[in-house]
Amino acid sequence: MPPTSARHSTRTVVLRAPLSGVLVPIDEVPDPVFAQRLVGDGVAIDPISHTLCAPCDGIVVQVHAAGHALTIATPDGLEVMMHIGLDSVKLRGRGFEPRVSAGDRVETGQPLIDFDSDFVVRHARSLLTQLVITNGERVARLEARRGTVVASVDVALEVTLRDEDVAEPAPVEVANLSTALVGSAFGLHARPAALVVAAARASASEVRVRHGQQVASATSLVALLGLDAGPGATVRIEARGPDASAVVSRVAAALARTFDGDAPERPGAPAAAASTPGPPEAASESTRVLTGLPASPGQVLGTIVRAGPDEVHVREAGGDPREERSRFERARARSQAELEALVTRLRAESTPGRSTLFEAHRALLDDPELLEPTFEGIETGRSAAAAWRDAFAGQAARLATLQHHHLAARAADVDDVGHRVLRHLVDHPVEALELPHGAILVAEQLAPSAVATLDRARVAGFCTVAGGVLSHVALLARSLGLPAVTGIDPAALDVADGTPAALDGTRGRLVLQPDADEVRRVGERQAVEAARREVDLLAAAAPAVTTDGHRVDVLASVTSLADAAAAPRAGAEGVGLLRSEFLFVDRAAPPSEEEQRVVYAELLSTSGAGRPVVIRALDAGGDKPLAYVPIPNEPNPALGERGCRALLGRPGLLRAQVRAVLRASAHGAARLLFPMVATLPEWRALRACVEEERASLGADPVPIGLLVEVPAAALLALHFAREVDFFSIGTNDLAQYTLAMDRAHPKLASQVDALHPAVLQLVARTVAAARAHARPVGVCGAIASDPQAVPILVGLGVDELTVPVALIAGIKARIRELSWGACQVLAARALAAETADEVRALDAGHTP
Ligand code: PEP
Ligand code: MG
Repeated sequence: MPPTSARHSTRTVVLRAPLSGVLVPIDEVPDPVFAQRLVGDGVAIDPISHTLCAPCDGIVVQVHAAGHALTIATPDGLEVMMHIGLDSVKLRGRGFEPRVSAGDRVETGQPLIDFDSDFVVRHARSLLTQLVITNGERVARLEARRGTVVASVDVALEVTLRDEDVAEPAPVEVANLSTALVGSAFGLHARPAALVVAAARASASEVRVRHGQQVASATSLVALLGLDAGPGATVRIEARGPDASAVVSRVAAALARTFDGDAPERPGAPAAAASTPGPPEAASESTRVLTGLPASPGQVLGTIVRAGPDEVHVREAGGDPREERSRFERARARSQAELEALVTRLRAESTPGRSTLFEAHRALLDDPELLEPTFEGIETGRSAAAAWRDAFAGQAARLATLQHHHLAARAADVDDVGHRVLRHLVDHPVEALELPHGAILVAEQLAPSAVATLDRARVAGFCTVAGGVLSHVALLARSLGLPAVTGIDPAALDVADGTPAALDGTRGRLVLQPDADEVRRVGERQAVEAARREVDLLAAAAPAVTTDGHRVDVLASVTSLADAAAAPRAGAEGVGLLRSEFLFVDRAAPPSEEEQRVVYAELLSTSGAGRPVVIRALDAGGDKPLAYVPIPNEPNPALGERGCRALLGRPGLLRAQVRAVLRASAHGAARLLFPMVATLPEWRALRACVEEERASLGADPVPIGLLVEVPAAALLALHFAREVDFFSIGTNDLAQYTLAMDRAHPKLASQVDALHPAVLQLVARTVAAARAHARPVGVCGAIASDPQAVPILVGLGVDELTVPVALIAGIKARIRELSWGACQVLAARALAAETADEVRALDAGHTP
């Protein structure tokens, strides 16, 4: 626990310039992560030399796998990180040549990394190099120099250390919360647990979580998973320290959070109970069919490649415990660097859901429940590898016996991280399998990290004996679009490499030696799908006009800059929903007005002139808690301080975003959309705020819209229509609130169907109100891309459908096949139906 104040500080560490060049204040670095000191305080250098040198004596604690960054620990315990270039991680090591490794002792001026400045400057965003202190709690004062510096000669930073011995004790506060709820549909699994650990580790208080008789330190991921707290479990949070009440609410928010992939997929999400492989199906003589669970849809032909268990031989007896310990620390640092590179890559690929899993893996590397037994083992004479293996294997075995199967599945994560470190301990690098094209991997179990890094050019799909449809591996496969079957008949493990096979991830089957008929069937299905996609894409830019001349605009639903950049080429007529939360999550403080302005301006520019970009104001709270938007623990977060309610209570946050949108609006057709509005006074307060900020900036007005996702807003749509510029119907929440069924509830989520006639009646009412006042109205919930729903929504008269970028061309093509007249008849029948199933049956009848 760091001291919170110091009476006097004496020691000063001088850091020499690691490169020759011009010093630049850290807050002028054009990257908010550095400019806002999220990594740490320090200085940047615009370099003219190309060998990064040690700014001080110390030990290299980490060299980034991409070779562009490293960290040195000084003898005083200061952690000094150097990061060459901006966005240079994406070069994946090209252009960088590290000359040291983790664990090396270095002296001031010693060369650390050679780099090709021409290459980096051409391929990365900038060559600007950062020198920052990552453990700021050790710093009492930091002075960044200015001007031109010569590497290893001139001083770049002067850091005065806190004197820990004379620190004044911080006032102690005690806070307990006895009814914190576990929100995720999978219970307290790795992702919420990692958020809890992050909140606890960032706090100066001691935090514990109790579940029944069990108690866990909130800084230990393994201990938290071991609580076996399932979905909806009530736990107690106890904190003692200077910021006890703040950390309790942060931990409660983390516990309450739900995640992408929590909700079972519809339609027909396979139940976990169906996990026993069925008997082999009848098939022709040489053909064999093995069954399992449909973990990720799609059909592929390929050849079997058995991904064998990773055998690692471990020396049991250790040498000098100090050497064993430093060997262990090196292996841990390398694993940390690998995981960091993986997280950075997945984030860059805009797959935050996948990256959070590996953030949880990173937290496991610091987990006291794994580290302490390892250190004890080393002290008693065991080798680092044997001590670590026993520690993680023991914890994984314990987790595997937990009652909640999704928590038990986290044993695979502990095992994955465990083997990663073990391989470094025995110098056994992860060997890339030599894969043929069209490989169908068969394994007892695949590590999540192995799936995330599969060579997509060669791997057609995979099946595993272990795991259900809720495993991380299954979730990863779905997010990658990779067909997969889990829980496959173990006979699959005996199939020889090279055996031809057809994998059906939609039905959960592996057909070995498929006969000519099966090959033809799969081939035909694939060919039809591929040809259809190609044809749809060719016509993507053309408007979606029904056979009888009615036009419907199809816009993109966007959660990253990458999505927005891809949207125009995919045929989007604009961005119908920018979920701005992507700018706000996974950080300690909200983005500044200026940071937001830059992003919105870029979005507007990439979308192209005249194409609307609907920026939804931050939809925090509920299932999207943010560390810096503390919302007291709510028994019913979906009915609590969510969306515009959270914003109206935090005017600073609201106004900064409104101003950022208004200032960026010169770059394109910006629109502002407010979520979770239930009452007219809420709407009027939001509109007044926009108007005040507009007047103070002297900006042009931007259209402001209402996200209709609370039944009250749909029921009073006629009143709202007089005051809004446009409506967007958020059918995901509208269905959850209309049916009073939690959209993430493990049992109920599959019934939360926006094609329920009650929801459709609210949609129809909103459309009628919009028509009466000549306001545009769109649908931006997931139903907008459901092929069964499209004709009904078109028939109800919505002007726009907002859908994921990859589906735009297909939806436009579908609309072009429809007759508006027939859609209107269909919509009328849907409104008169009694159940969602009845509506879906109607649609099936309508489909040509
Ligand atoms: C909705 O509720 O339909 C919607 C578009 O918002 P979100 O899914 O982000 O809650
Ligand atoms: Mg919503």
